[in-house]
Amino acid sequence: MNAAPADQIRLLDVQSLDVRLTQLAHKRSTLPELAELSALEAELTQQRDLLVAAQTEESDTTREQTKAEQDVDQVRQRAARDQKRLDSGAVTSPKDLESLQRELASLAKRQGDLEDIVLEVMERREAAQARAAELDGRVQAVQAKVDDATARRDAACTEIDAEVETVTKERELTVADIPADLLKLYDRLREKHGGVGAARLYQRRCEGCRLELDLTELNDVRSAAADAVVRCENCSRILVRTPDSGL
Ligand SMILES: [Zn+2]
Repeated sequence: MNAAPADQIRLLDVQSLDVRLTQLAHKRSTLPELAELSALEAELTQQRDLLVAAQTEESDTTREQTKAEQDVDQVRQRAARDQKRLDSGAVTSPKDLESLQRELASLAKRQGDLEDIVLEVMERREAAQARAAELDGRVQAVQAKVDDATARRDAACTEIDAEVETVTKERELTVADIPADLLKLYDRLREKHGGVGAARLYQRRCEGCRLELDLTELNDVRSAAADAVVRCENCSRILVRTPDSGL
């Protein structure tokens, strides 16, 4: 393949733009904010789950407390009824009186037990409320961190994307003058060889594979026409000659 030396040198410009694009893509996919966000999202999910559990406990104990208070009320009402009967003097038989008094005593004990239950449930409810409030605070704090990291990630991406756009435009302009067959070869080699398709021959060394050319190879390059597209024998990349090639 033949191509004007100026076009071959232009290929090196394209190569450095392509390297820049690869670096930018790598930078974008390895932003520290991405790892930070993924850790924060996991923490957020965990804290939210704990919050939901605490809120469920809170509503369960609220229901439980209402039920326990109703139980106390029922016993209290029944005791009041019994007391009223006792006070009315309508019950006169000693056996009935004794039975009524026994029931009142039993209701008083029952009421006491149920009030203890109410207190115990209230304590659990208050603990659940406090825990839910604390977790709500934690969720909000983690969410704030997520928002902050998201904003930083977006800003970094916007900056990278703007540079990608600039470099891409510059590449378009640079490749416009390069013959299609040379560009096609370059693109093919670049894809095959880790993103580098054209390398400068610098002080007898291929900058693609970093190997120094041996005497035979050097002589081949020296005798090649200026517009011949020379390839590195070691890495097969396009070897671009410049005044610094050491020929
Ligand atoms: Zn090479």
